[in-house]
This record gives sequence, C-alpha cells and structure tokens, in this order.
Amino acid sequence: MDGRSDGDRATIFAVANQKGGVGKTTTAVNLAACVAEAGYPTLLVDIDPQANATVGLGLTKHESPTVYDVFGGEVTAEAALHASAIENLSVLPSTPELAGANVELPRIAGSETILREALEPLREQFRFIIFDCPPSLGPLTVNAMVAADRVVVPVQTEYFALEGLADLLDTVQLIQRELNPRLSIAGIVLTMHDGRTRLAEDVEAEVRKHFPGLIFDSVIPRNVRVAEAPSYGLPVTHHDPHCAGAGAYFDLAKEVALRG
Ligand code: ADP
Ligand code: MG
Repeated sequence: MDGRSDGDRATIFAVANQKGGVGKTTTAVNLAACVAEAGYPTLLVDIDPQANATVGLGLTKHESPTVYDVFGGEVTAEAALHASAIENLSVLPSTPELAGANVELPRIAGSETILREALEPLREQFRFIIFDCPPSLGPLTVNAMVAADRVVVPVQTEYFALEGLADLLDTVQLIQRELNPRLSIAGIVLTMHDGRTRLAEDVEAEVRKHFPGLIFDSVIPRNVRVAEAPSYGLPVTHHDPHCAGAGAYFDLAKEVALRG
C-alpha cells in the first residue's frame, strides 16, 4: 500500500455524498482503521454534526476541543487531536454544536479554506487524513472538498443509487475549477450490497455501466457485524476482523491507497 502522492505529506480524502444513510461514516471509519492498521499514521476528521464517526471510534459527542473550535479559530487542529482505541489512528472529533457552522460559515468571507489552512501543518505528521462529511453539499462538505485531494463516494446498492450523483459530481467539478484544482474523484464504492438479491446485481451492473472506470472493484456487502460495530465504539475491522464486511473494507483500503 503506497499511495503517497506528494513526498511525505498526507493524502487527504473526503468521504462524501449528500444522501444520508449510504455508508459514508462506515466507510470513513473503516478506511481510516485499515490504513492505520497497515501502519500509516492516520487522522479521521469528523465534520458531521451528528458525530457518528466520533462515537463509532469510541469517543463521545462531548469531547473538547472539537473541529468546531478549529472552525472558530479558537484552537489549532493539532490541539484538537484525540487518540482513538486504534493504534496510529487519531480523531478530530465533531459535536452537535457544529450544526451552527452551517449558518456561521457563509457569513465569513473566505471561510471555504478554513479547514485547508488548519490542516496544512498536520500534513507532515499524518500519511492519510480522511473526512467524514455530513449528508449535504453545504459549507461543511465544501470545506472538506477544498482541503481534500480525492473524494470517495459511497453509494448504497439500491434502486435510487444514481439519484443525486450528477449533482455531487457537478459540485466536485465546481470546486475543482474555482477553489481546489488538485481535487479529483478517487472512486465510487458500492455499499450494503445484498448478494442474495437480483436487485443488487442489477444496480451494480447499471452503476458500472454509467461510470466506467470510476467504481472500485471492492464492493461492501450488507453485513450485520458492520452495523453493530459502532455500538462497541470500534471499526468492524477491529470488532470482527474476519467477517465479510471487514475483508471488503481491507480490500477497498488497498484500492483507495493505491489510487491515492
Ligand atoms: P451515512 O454516514 O452515509 O449516513 P452510515 O455509514 O451511518 O451512513 O450507514 C447508515 C446505516 O447503515 C448505519 O446504521 C450503518 O451501521 C448501516 N450500515 C452501513 N454499512 C453497512 C453494511 N455494509 N452492512 C450493514 N449495515 C451497514
Ligand atoms: Mg454519517
């Protein structure tokens, strides 16, 4: 696994899709755990006010300081780092208060680059930085995309899978043009694939036809171990490393890091 794009600096991934419940948080947490497990110093930055990634990595919704304090300029990103239960994996936690940033950020000129500037000094310290984005294309997701090198797009393997993807890809293009020329799509990952159904097979075939070359080979199966892992404050790769879901995330991490 060697995806270093830029000397010794971190490659930054934003896991984004404006739809909720498609597997963003699960993908961000497990990708981060896999590359950390492979020995790379890794940072997960939770920018969803729901703080599911924060809690899924064993922290609480009431840590201090958080990414909200970083947005407010009260602390450096370095000062807001927290250790997780996973070796090599640090967390910049979120908090429900971060919802306020959706109102506050648009009122601050140039606020799109706050995260990029705040994380710049950490790019020497980490090999991978992974953002878990909220379910919208609002100011928080824009901040992540301005800071990122690559976007990973989880898509649930279900009937309306392609809906909204065009808007997401347009947003990436707009940010690339206006704010961050180095941004690109790492790929689309099909999640919650139910191998017993014809529907999942059909959706997968359709998505691969629509976006040739953009879909990761690794497909994440629907797997109860994946769903229950957050209640233990662990990624599934550490909750049950031998289950099908963990195996799929290890494979995906190899693909993502190789393309990174
Ligand atoms: P998002 O962050 O896009 O809202 P989540 O990652 O929180 O999506 O996933 C939505 C729900 O689906 C969660 O309850 C999660 O545990 C569950 N889930 C995600 N991936 C899987 C999977 N591969 N198998 C089973 N359940 C999953
Ligand atoms: Mg989420």
